[in-house]
Amino acid sequence: ADKRAVTVIGLGPMGQAMTGAYLDAGYEVTVWNRTAAKADALAARGARRAAGVEEALAANELVVLSLTDYDAMYALLEPAAGSLAGRVLVNLSSDTPERAREAAAWAAGHGAEHLTGGVQVPPSGIGKPESSTFYSGPKEVFEAHEVALKVLTGVDYRGTDPGRAALFYQIQMDMFWTAMLSYLHATAITAANGITAQEFLPYAQSTMASIPGFLAFYAPRIDAGRHDGDVDKLSMGVASVDHVVHTAEGSGVDAALPAAVREVFRRGVERGHGDDSFTRLLEVFKAG
Ligand code: NDP
Repeated sequence: ADKRAVTVIGLGPMGQAMTGAYLDAGYEVTVWNRTAAKADALAARGARRAAGVEEALAANELVVLSLTDYDAMYALLEPAAGSLAGRVLVNLSSDTPERAREAAAWAAGHGAEHLTGGVQVPPSGIGKPESSTFYSGPKEVFEAHEVALKVLTGVDYRGTDPGRAALFYQIQMDMFWTAMLSYLHATAITAANGITAQEFLPYAQSTMASIPGFLAFYAPRIDAGRHDGDVDKLSMGVASVDHVVHTAEGSGVDAALPAAVREVFRRGVERGHGDDSFTRLLEVFKAG
């Protein structure tokens, strides 16, 4: 594990940035990619090109995978499974917690270790210690390779469950996309009313900047199972979101997004929680 050498399989924008970071850090890097031409520039910078997947696996104990998803990994590594024994697969391809757990069992079946990774930055953030990647899997394996992993980004070890890093990645994505769509929807309303995105920007930023304070207020209450309606009431929330739906409709903007939010609020009220905080909706989500 002390050897400054690594194999990178998968040279999309991410794998290329990762290989570059290792080369910059003085690592011996062996690369392989289905489309061989993507290794050209890296080979010119000193990366070793493996002739095939088996050779790439044989070159180093530490094998970084940066593929579209786990299906791509199986497509590539199943035929080379005989070369997996003794390897540490650092799987930085995004997928679900369930698929990460399956992959760890699959790797173990071939005598390999599997570390799940969830990279939280675009390729431009690779090679920067302030960037962060979630990892999970066997602790001793993570610790043995921590120095090499830190060449890519800062690390955030989330525990032994191979699904954990994928879970943390996906909950971030859950929030990110819903928040970004809320922004886009509000922008559609402003646009319909002759307001540019630039004019809306400071207000949108101010709304987003208020969110951390709300999270800090509600998190301990949620953990304590407290959903008192002393600060906000679900019944008020329904009325509030209803106004948003009608404002969208009145502006000629599709209202499906706020209508879906209103529907969740309504279900909470129907369950008799109108006088509780909106956090009571956790029970609606749990019920599915
Ligand atoms: P790409 O989809 O551009 O790269 C995919 C890589 O997977 C390529 O090397 C491609 O090979 C290979 N691949 C895909 N399918 C197969 C297959 N069936 N057989 C063999 N090789 C295959 O992804 P990125 O580089 O952008 O990202 C890699 C991973 O990192 C993804 O899981 C992504 O979700 C994650 N990620 C990406 C971020 C980003 O901003 N890009 C941010 C955070 C995470 P070929 O070149 O031959 O097509």
